[in-house]
Amino acid sequence: MAKIGLMGGTFDPIHNGHMALAGQALTEFGLDRILFIPNYCPWMKSGRRIADADDRIDMVRAAIQDEPRYDISYIEIEAKGNSYTCNTVLQLKKEHPENSYFFILGADSLFTIEQWFNPEIIFQNVTILAAVRDDCDLEALKVQKEHLTDKYHGEILLMHMQRIEISSTYIRDHFYTSENVSKMLPAPVYQIIKERQLYRDR
Ligand code: ATP
Ligand code: MG
Repeated sequence: MAKIGLMGGTFDPIHNGHMALAGQALTEFGLDRILFIPNYCPWMKSGRRIADADDRIDMVRAAIQDEPRYDISYIEIEAKGNSYTCNTVLQLKKEHPENSYFFILGADSLFTIEQWFNPEIIFQNVTILAAVRDDCDLEALKVQKEHLTDKYHGEILLMHMQRIEISSTYIRDHFYTSENVSKMLPAPVYQIIKERQLYRDR
């Protein structure tokens, strides 16, 4: 039996906030591996343009290449259409019922998870690991954790990490205009964006 962390996201692009989140989950909860699962087309974001799946995949692969405990899963990309975490979780459990799964997310996701498709299935099958983000501090996270635990009876554990002020949105909007963006990205990801001229048209 292995303890597997799941990091779902658009990764448009993957950045150091994602990497820090994964690293903290790995050490704080003694996970064996982390699976990065890029969405094909998350329905919550269907209103805006998203970089090609191939570019997002290449960036994830570049970011995780030196960490043998990190892996990429194409489960949502291959499924095409809208990506639903509940389906991903059920498929992983079916393939490997012996594993225990931990879904890693930032505070913003813990506050929207009730609007996801079948949240009860997610809570029944994984432990949620949640981290502070933006203006949501540990106190606000605890209140939301209580609310969700009462409603879904799942297990939510709060991660003990500092807030990391990085988002893909900021990177997409400022890649060509702000020097501090290079510090927010793993070096090979920065290179890919530059070489392929991604996010040029924003
Ligand atoms: P976007 O700005 O396009 O929404 P993002 O930076 O939020 O991008 P996502 O791919 O949407 O990145 O996020 C995937 C997961 O990683 C989400 O659960 C999100 O909460 C979490 N996450 C991303 N960045 C951070 C961060 N800086 N701190 C904590 N959690 C984060
Ligand atoms: Mg996001």
